[in-house]
Amino acid sequence: MTYRTDHATDLDSTRIGDTVSVAGWVSRRRDHGGVAFIDVRDASGIVQVVADPASIPVVEDLRMEYCVSITGAVRERPEGTVNEELATGEIEIHADEVVVLSPSKTLPFMLDDRTEIEERTRLRYRYLDLRRPRMAENLRARSRVTATIRRTLDGMGFLEVETPTLIRSTPEGARDMLVPSRLRQGDFYALPQSPQLFKQLLMIGGVERYFQIARCYRDEDFRSDRQLEFTQLDLEGSFWTQAEVLDTVETVLKTAATEIRGGEMTEPFLRVTWQEAMDRFGSDKPDIRFGMEIVVLDDVFADTEFGVFSGALTSGGTVRGINAGPRELSRAQADVLVERAKELGAKGLVWMQVTDDGSLRSSVAKFLSYDEKTGLVSRLEAEPGHVLLIAADRWQTVSAVLGGLRLDLGRPQGHDDLAFLWVTDFPMFEVEDDGSRTFSHHPFTSPALIEDMVADPDTALSQAYDAVLNGVELGSGSIRIHDPAVQRQVFEVLGIDAETAERRFGWFLDALDYGTPPHGGFAFGIDRLAMVLQGEESIRDVIPFPKTQTGVDPMTEAPAEVDDTQLTELGIRLRPEVIAARAEDTETGEVSRGDV
Ligand code: ASP
Repeated sequence: MTYRTDHATDLDSTRIGDTVSVAGWVSRRRDHGGVAFIDVRDASGIVQVVADPASIPVVEDLRMEYCVSITGAVRERPEGTVNEELATGEIEIHADEVVVLSPSKTLPFMLDDRTEIEERTRLRYRYLDLRRPRMAENLRARSRVTATIRRTLDGMGFLEVETPTLIRSTPEGARDMLVPSRLRQGDFYALPQSPQLFKQLLMIGGVERYFQIARCYRDEDFRSDRQLEFTQLDLEGSFWTQAEVLDTVETVLKTAATEIRGGEMTEPFLRVTWQEAMDRFGSDKPDIRFGMEIVVLDDVFADTEFGVFSGALTSGGTVRGINAGPRELSRAQADVLVERAKELGAKGLVWMQVTDDGSLRSSVAKFLSYDEKTGLVSRLEAEPGHVLLIAADRWQTVSAVLGGLRLDLGRPQGHDDLAFLWVTDFPMFEVEDDGSRTFSHHPFTSPALIEDMVADPDTALSQAYDAVLNGVELGSGSIRIHDPAVQRQVFEVLGIDAETAERRFGWFLDALDYGTPPHGGFAFGIDRLAMVLQGEESIRDVIPFPKTQTGVDPMTEAPAEVDDTQLTELGIRLRPEVIAARAEDTETGEVSRGDV
């Protein structure tokens, strides 16, 4: 037998009279006037089948999600029953033969997009979840994104190269996922946090233009937008300037966006420096779909007698504000904003509302002079009804607080519009909470000027850049260090002494000694890009088999124990306290191990 001659959506009124076979799943079944109306869904969409149980008894058995093959004639639907919403809405198939290919148990949840289902249940039965139209569409869109990227880069002369996934660890700022070696017990591979050093080696190897759709692994504690494994479009080029990297990546992102959203994106992406991003939006991944930009008020309050502002200014801080636009601001709502500002790191928050007569309603208005108030209103372009929020503190704190409030108050729901931007000129290093210095991108990023780095590492800039879409950090890249002496200097500034550098990266430093071309590149998250282009709020909705926020796959129950023999082969024995904790967890049915 033939399972199918046509996909559901191949059928339309031009096919009336043809005998066809379709194969798929019963997505809906209604009985009406003694006949059954069955919506058959396949990967292309839905077609309606009309079947008479009197002549085809198996129709009586058909339940939701039975897998079937149905043969019959394409007929025009009777007047009044045309379904405009369906591609196949003008026709139906009158069944001559119905074959059940496999029955289905009663479903754990409805597969339409209207039913809200708990995520754990969806992941437990992901194979059913993937049959839902929205998820099926997300998978298709993602495949189109990667196909477009491949086509575009291939057209630009890039070589697709696979790099190994069992490697020696490469620092990208996260914890490595480790794989024990059986052949060399006691030694471990790391799964790549990214192909960073291998793509640099490809440049030394003369490849010049490389890309890879690369799986990367980072053993981080879960934040909402992260997975332990994720997919990046990774690319690198030799003899490339920063501007050339950005132009190439911009073209790739635009073609992917056009593929999914249609239309043509002709506008170049906005480019701002890191400093400007922080100053204007209080974030290094600003959402520029709305205004509410941060405004400096230092000069307005230069001579103020209001202690909170003068205190910040005399101790080297700053006073800045945002105009949160016309909105209601009850005392209770103001309290919520103040609480939120504290969560974001502020000691407090000054709020004001412009009244109908143009004066300011605020608990601090009485401390401000007439000139300060008018200066404030004009600087923030405030009008009656507008709410103004002002923070005074260290620059970092003010940026974080106003940047956070700006998002809370202004960020549009969903992703109807796309706003891409480049953030360039990132600082070379960051200072950690414990006071130690770390790289802000990765240790292979070139400083903007070596002299600056030597003079003062903590204010030195790097040649690193990020791409941002609707406030989501899509990815990062940089021009790399190609001079081994500079690479050694950077390790030193990072507190990696010469001996350690040699032990961990000697093999890489060696490679830099053989005529390394200047090079640079970029990597962006395919999951995140697909998420925004598809208007989803969670990357889990564009990943076929994601893990939960605690790193678990509820379907296979990974991670799971392994046989003792497997551990023995690897030369591994679990610590007694881990064995005890496991036993306890088995009893209570909970997982208390690890620090997630
Ligand atoms: N390896 C970097 C990352 O994964 C990207 C790059 O610098 O090209 O973020």
